[in-house]
Amino acid sequence: MSSVVAADLTGATTPGAEARIASAPGPIRPALPTAVDIAIIGSGCSGLATAVRLAGQPSQPTVLVLEGRRTPDPRSWCSWDDGSDPLPEARSASWDRWEVRTDHGTSVGSDPDHPYVLVRASNRRAAAERRLHGTSITVIDGTPVRNVTASGDDALIHIPNGTVRAETVLDARGPRCPEHVEPGRVLLHQRFIGQWITTTRPVFDTTTVTLMDFTDQQAGGAVRFIYVLPTSPTVALVESTLFTADGDEPFDHIAHIVNYVQRRWGLSTNEWQVGDEETGCIPMTDAPPAQLTGRTFTQMPSAVIGTTRPSSGYGFARSNRHSIVLAQNLAGGEPIPVFQDRARTRFLDAVFLRFLRDRPEHAAEAFRRLLALHGPLVVRFMTERSTLLDDLRIVLALQKRPFLRALVRTISDTLRRRQHGRVSG
Ligand SMILES: Cc1cc2nc3c(=O)[nH]c(=O)nc-3n(C[C@H](O)[C@H](O)[C@H](O)COP(=O)(O)OP(=O)(O)OC[C@H]3O[C@@H](n4cnc5c(N)ncnc54)[C@H](O)[C@@H]3O)c2cc1C
Repeated sequence: MSSVVAADLTGATTPGAEARIASAPGPIRPALPTAVDIAIIGSGCSGLATAVRLAGQPSQPTVLVLEGRRTPDPRSWCSWDDGSDPLPEARSASWDRWEVRTDHGTSVGSDPDHPYVLVRASNRRAAAERRLHGTSITVIDGTPVRNVTASGDDALIHIPNGTVRAETVLDARGPRCPEHVEPGRVLLHQRFIGQWITTTRPVFDTTTVTLMDFTDQQAGGAVRFIYVLPTSPTVALVESTLFTADGDEPFDHIAHIVNYVQRRWGLSTNEWQVGDEETGCIPMTDAPPAQLTGRTFTQMPSAVIGTTRPSSGYGFARSNRHSIVLAQNLAGGEPIPVFQDRARTRFLDAVFLRFLRDRPEHAAEAFRRLLALHGPLVVRFMTERSTLLDDLRIVLALQKRPFLRALVRTISDTLRRRQHGRVSG
């Protein structure tokens, strides 16, 4: 049985909503199965990757992906291509070259074997639909999961119009920024708004992604920068990003973007238009992932999937990588593997987080130095494949004194948490 169809079950069963929904032309709607082998909550990055990987397993388990959204996801993901994307046909752009701009210079890097790729969520969803057609996997939109309860050895998933029984549940509802983390941990909120901009004259250099432009960073302020993904000489995603310990600290991202567009490309307001917009807050923290979601499953074979890297907020490639082992284990009846960073990566990320929190004025120069290193080394580090020697080179390239302080702070925080019996990751 196959069906990957955008259906709106919530609307179709809401009193008074039938006429509006039912009369709309559209694809055939799949019946909601009453029982499946595996239910995946959320069809975002990790949910869809895992569904596609499961479709490739010989045992062909029945899988139901329940997605709360009814409308296309306006987001996009970028990452260095490490070969882990199960849907590479969904990419819409790629770049071999990147830069980091600061008041003290620009660093440029390149790794043609691992380009920086752009995937728009709507293209990924369309590619998944093509791949999943004719398989035992169903994706249903407009089904926000309210709750999951245990029922014998199974799970009951509660959605607005009923329940679905599943042997295994994967919670792929995505990371969220908590208000705080336990003492001795660091939490920075990576807050951003990105706008797709179309200009009336060609201004963008399509050969190079601006990963970070710190050129208007203000002394004493939080870490902030602009990110630019130019997909044509007249179209780019321009994103304003801020790292703050206080998630409610006011910041005008739109003014940040407007000032930047005017300053960098000399455009006046009637020379560009804004299209799709994406907004988000990614937690950057050394707290264990389980503390972030606030969701745990103890009575059934289930797990939360989808994590982001503590020091960067990148999650696309790691979720894609994890989906490989997830699908293999699930199809083979093995326990669900938990994503875990290498101990060395966890430690370095914890140091870097303390550096960013405590010395934001040094952040621009640290990123400039890091991204100026040999391209393949940078990519190995960013995609969590760095060797011990790579990590050593990175540490040696950074500012010694503030990093040493952050390192000492990381060790003392760990010892303090141990003393209080609170070491959880
Ligand atoms: C705007 C944005 C841009 C990002 N860009 C990048 C990037 O360029 N590169 C990168 O590496 N990382 C990026 N990240 C970080 C990370 O990779 C993403 O957050 C990634 O999408 C996380 O994958 P996920 O599967 O865990 O969650 P998501 O992809 O967020 O998927 C969660 C899905 O669950 C659905 N959902 C939520 N609640 C329910 C419910 N109750 N019932 C049913 N469905 C539900 C949501 O609608 C969504 O479709 C970005 C994050 C954000 C927020």
